[in-house]
This record gives sequence, C-alpha cells and structure tokens, in this order.
Amino acid sequence: MKHLAYQRDAYLNDLDTEVVETGADGGRRFVVTSDTVFYPEGGGQPADHGTMSGVEVVDVQKTDGIIRHFLGGELPPGPVHQILNWGRRFDHMQQHTGQHLLTAVALGRFGWATTAFHMGPSVCDIELDVPSLSGGELRRLEDAVAEEILTARPVTIRHAGIDEMEALGVRSRLLPEGHGGEIRLVEIEGLDLNTCGGTHVRSTAEIGTLALLGSETMRGGARLFFVAGDRVRRRLAGHEARNLRLRSLLDAADDDLPKLVELRLAREKSLARERRQILAELARAEAERLAATDETVISAHWDDRDLPFLQEIGKALLERTPERIALLTVGSGIDGAFLLVASETSGLDLGSVGPKICTILDGRGGGRAPFFQGKATAIGKRGNAVERLVGEFSD
Ligand SMILES: [Zn+2]
Repeated sequence: MKHLAYQRDAYLNDLDTEVVETGADGGRRFVVTSDTVFYPEGGGQPADHGTMSGVEVVDVQKTDGIIRHFLGGELPPGPVHQILNWGRRFDHMQQHTGQHLLTAVALGRFGWATTAFHMGPSVCDIELDVPSLSGGELRRLEDAVAEEILTARPVTIRHAGIDEMEALGVRSRLLPEGHGGEIRLVEIEGLDLNTCGGTHVRSTAEIGTLALLGSETMRGGARLFFVAGDRVRRRLAGHEARNLRLRSLLDAADDDLPKLVELRLAREKSLARERRQILAELARAEAERLAATDETVISAHWDDRDLPFLQEIGKALLERTPERIALLTVGSGIDGAFLLVASETSGLDLGSVGPKICTILDGRGGGRAPFFQGKATAIGKRGNAVERLVGEFSD
C-alpha cells in the first residue's frame, strides 16, 4: 500500500505532483493526483483546505480508497503544486492529537472509555461511557492531561501487520470491513497505541494546552467538550473581549458580573409586572371613558399600544356595557392590530362580520364571541370599518 504525503509526513505543507484523473460528483468537479498533502475528511477530522497551482481546494473526500480534491476553479494544464492551509491543518493536528491524549488519560487513569469523537470548527467533543461527570472529575482529568502535555511524550507513526495487533496491545478502533494487510498505528510513547489514519503533532508538548469546557449527559454516556492548542488562546481572547464589554456596560469587576446581572434581571421582571398592572389600570380607565360615550359603535385608536392592551379594555367594556360593540385599534402604517368586541347579546354576528372588518383593514385574524382580533396592514382604514359596523345596525 502506497503511503501518501500527508501520511508520510504530517509537517509537509507543499508538494509537486500531477493530475491522474478528473471527474465530477454531484455537480462538483474534482481531481485525483498521484500523491497528495491534503488529508481527506475522516475519523472525526475535517478535510484540509489550501490551493493547487493557485486554485482553491475547497473540499477533500476519500471515495473507494481514492482521494478526490474538489476545486474552486479550473486547473492550468501540466504538473500541479499543492500548498496546504497550514494554520487550519496544524489546528486539526492539535485537536486530533489532543483527543488521543484525552482519551488515553480518561481510560488509563480514570477507566472512562471513549465511544466517539467530533471535531467542530470551534469546539471538539468526545463521548465517554460514563453516566455523568462532576466538576471535580473534570478538573482532575484536565490536570492529568496537562501533566502529560508537560512530559512532552513523542507521538510516532508506524505500521504493523494485522496479526501483530494483539501482541502489540493495540487499543483498536473498529477496522473497516475486509481490512487486510498493513495497519497504521499512532503511539504516544508510554501511554497509548492506537490504530489511526489521521495527522498528528510529533510530541504531546505541541498540543500546547487542552481545556475541558464542560460536559452534558446524553443517552448512553456523557459528552465532554474541549479545545486544544491555539484554540485555547483564541477562546480566552474571546472571553476577555466579552468580559471587557460587560465590565464597561455594567460598571463592575469580573467577579461581580453574574450577581449584578441576576439583580438586573430580577428588577426587570418586577418592572414588567408593575407595567402590566399600570396598563391594566389604564385600560380600565379608558374603558370607563369609552363606555360613557353614546356612539352606536364604540371606537378608539392608540398608536403605541399593543393587542394585550386592547384585550384588557375589551374585557372591561364587556363588564360595563355588554350589549354594545366596539372596534379598538393600535399601531400605524402597515403595522397594526385590531380587536372587535361584540357579546352574544349585542346582536352582531361576529362569525360573519369579523372577516369583513378584517378585509377592510387588510388583515389576518380570527376569533369567536365576544372577541375577533388580528393583525392589520391598513389600520388607517379604521374609519371605513366603523362605518361598516354602524351599517350593520341601520340595515
Ligand atoms: Zn489519530
């Protein structure tokens, strides 16, 4: 089996090679090259990106053992020069090797087996075969991983026959169906020997640091979130920028921020309650005023209230003058709402008149006695709607 450039040397970031096949898959054009530095998506690790003779490589997939490079444009004829997006690749190497180390330490020191790995664009996670993880357990696991990073254990690749696996004590991942011949092994010296086709840093020291972000329970285990390498600094920078903004907005020190936000939220809740009470009182007063008029159809409009305010007035009106009908509206322009109030004793058939009023106001609504309500985009036509309602009684 031929070892490709990314398998021979994970630190190689450019290569001269030639195209041996071109094709299309689902409308996307791809090329196959005789050798490649591009890692294809697999084993929880995303595909490498970069350029090929100046043309962007946007995706790399392995199909039936063949590596397809999906390009952003047409390649010039002749030999090609591949250049990796090294920042992206090295980030993947740090996360991926970090996962090997985390998995090995979780199993070796704590007896927690890893059942899955996922590398996201900002956060990675592994699934552990444990019901849940406490904050203390997470801290001890993170400390143990930090020790192994400091130890700077070499990470090496070698190949072995499938029959040697047991004797070597390989902690195998599942091998593909019908896998024969040579197996690729990654070893963290003195800690772990595992089958893997991915790209790795050469020493645990190059993981830099690994931070556990928290865990959540899931069916059949716990999901543990982490970031490794430069992602830790980038994430910390994000936290610092956010804290700086919060400190300035709330005029408080970092440690006081959560308590202060809790207090503000409690105050907001109490203010909202007060506001509801005041609006209800105001609605009752408005209903009092409207009930005292002697129009056939009570009508009123507010530019800056909402439908719940109209409902409060509607309820209060029904208590005072259950036999009268009312058209109440709010909003302006195309952003309006209406409430038609008519009890069963009013003599108005809401089921047939409601939709007609809705049409005049160019709205959408529904309801049954005593309320028909909805949104309206022609709230300015409320005068016509009132005329229509008055007409219902003069017929
Ligand atoms: Zn690996």
